[in-house]
Amino acid sequence: MKVTRLASAMVAAAFGLGSFAALADVAAPQDVPYQGTLKINVDATDIAHRIFRVHEVIPAAPGPLTLLYPEWIPGNHSPTGPISKLAGLVVKANGTTLPWTRDQFNVYAFHVDVPQGASGVEVDFQYLSPLSQREGRVVMTPEMLDVQWSANTIYPAGYFARQINTEPSVKLPTGWQAGTALEVASRDGDTLNFKPINYDDLVDSPIFAGKYFKRVDLDPGASTPVHIDIVADDPKFLEIKPEQLKVHQNLVQQMYKMYGAHHYDHYDFLLSLSEKMGGEGLEHHRSSEDGTGTDYFTDWEKSALGRDLLSHEFNHSWDGKYRRGADLATPNFNVPMGDSLLWVYEGQTQFWGQVMAARSGMWTTDQTHDMLAFVAATYDQGRPGLASWRNVQDTTNDPTIAQRSPLPYRNYQGSEDYYSAGQMIWLEVDSKLRELSGGKKTIDDFGKAFFGVNPGKWDVDTYTFEDVTKTLNGIAPFDWASYLRTRLDGHGSLIGGIASHGWKLVYTDKPSAAVKAIEMRRHAADLTYSLGVSVGKGGDIGDVLWDGPAFKAGLSPGMTIVAVNSHDYDADALKDAVTAAAKDRSQPIELLVKNFDEYQTIRIDYHGGLKYPHLMREEGKPDTLTALLKPR
Ligand SMILES: [Zn+2]
Repeated sequence: MKVTRLASAMVAAAFGLGSFAALADVAAPQDVPYQGTLKINVDATDIAHRIFRVHEVIPAAPGPLTLLYPEWIPGNHSPTGPISKLAGLVVKANGTTLPWTRDQFNVYAFHVDVPQGASGVEVDFQYLSPLSQREGRVVMTPEMLDVQWSANTIYPAGYFARQINTEPSVKLPTGWQAGTALEVASRDGDTLNFKPINYDDLVDSPIFAGKYFKRVDLDPGASTPVHIDIVADDPKFLEIKPEQLKVHQNLVQQMYKMYGAHHYDHYDFLLSLSEKMGGEGLEHHRSSEDGTGTDYFTDWEKSALGRDLLSHEFNHSWDGKYRRGADLATPNFNVPMGDSLLWVYEGQTQFWGQVMAARSGMWTTDQTHDMLAFVAATYDQGRPGLASWRNVQDTTNDPTIAQRSPLPYRNYQGSEDYYSAGQMIWLEVDSKLRELSGGKKTIDDFGKAFFGVNPGKWDVDTYTFEDVTKTLNGIAPFDWASYLRTRLDGHGSLIGGIASHGWKLVYTDKPSAAVKAIEMRRHAADLTYSLGVSVGKGGDIGDVLWDGPAFKAGLSPGMTIVAVNSHDYDADALKDAVTAAAKDRSQPIELLVKNFDEYQTIRIDYHGGLKYPHLMREEGKPDTLTALLKPR
């Protein structure tokens, strides 16, 4: 879509037909106050059909008016506004229906003509929740719903979003309760009327509502309240043990100790425990949408894997929402976002998400080490594309390129690697700061200096690459620009932080608890670092490491392994075959494979045995990783 529009603009320019903006016929946003207030009512009561019904009163002067449906969604960093789920658009003025036209070159824009004598338009439409995950993230179930204002509003073109004032309200199913960063002005039955808020902050303030609801105080007695608002498929999932509550409360304090300031006047984690509503992790300034499985509290061991979710999303209030890459801080939701600094926004948040999971006690030391080994192995051997053709910087374009769609050869193509590769880079930056300062300075100092500024402020404070290096230089003078650019733009190792913290990455034939949990969650056998293949339920091949042993033997994603050494496939049989072939080089690994409707026998000449990543201490070198992970 982007290319088409650009090409059209170039054609237009060549023929003297005017600029791109004129071609799309959408007024550019101006930093001037919008006259009047957008009145927005969302009726979220039709849980049987999973339909949100939206009614808006939009003040406007007579003449041409362009209404926009948000396209570029904050936190997604990409044009993912669910325009295909918008239906039933009717625009009226003074009770008369007005014809609307969708812009030919911008399908998120609708043109209408406001008649003389009218003071604006009234708009009705439905936002249709996906009914299955196949259609997108399900946001309405019999027990809960998620009102995302970006999906449930349209707004006038021509203004910065923060210059448009709104009065929102939502009608919930009978008796449901809600959590949100929005402040309630009044409750009228099941309708919540919120205090006026500008459109930018409205879109940043979703609502989780549910039949089964619990609100938990994470900072009792604090002048700036922090809560978790939990909705669940069943009340039994809302039970929280005191030690579970404690580590969530620790998280808040550990963040405060590191940053020394926060950028909200209150904060609400919106947490859904559901197998029906789609999972989510979406950051906002004063809240976050955190969607996880039902067993988050009730099967604490099993849910360990994803338990850096809340620390990750919470960290974004500082890194991403308050401090934001200058090219990402767009004036409204229909201006393309620039993602060049996502290795800070997401990369350092990935780093702190895991470090804070350790410092707060959400993860044990072993769990943290296992996850770190898993990530380090990915950037040691699991991303051959980053070593050969693509760099970390280029992956920051991936939210726009792939929008998280499945990829044929993800390990070679690369995807949103700025998250975990970014995490590895920041781990190494921490050890470099320690080295340069003789152990006096760490990445905590960077966090405080870069993100922990201007306590209580929660507008947007933008930054550039030069601002990042300047702050690092202020902490420990060094050629940080070259240091970072080498890692972002090059094809060298990204895991130097493991060794410089006094540890090493090793591979053994025993999977860590984390790898076992990942295998269980994905219903897959993860043989990435041995055979170079990951095999799902029933032998379906999920991923094949580019140029790995399985790849070279002719396996590819999409095939199904039917038999291993002439016996029915199961994951253990495959692992046993790998082990046997390591002990006796005459032992084959012979797979009967189905490819579309053809069967073929593939022999893999691999005798290296099973290999799973672990961290091990490098004796004789100082252990600064333990210092990094220790609670403050
Ligand atoms: Zn994130």
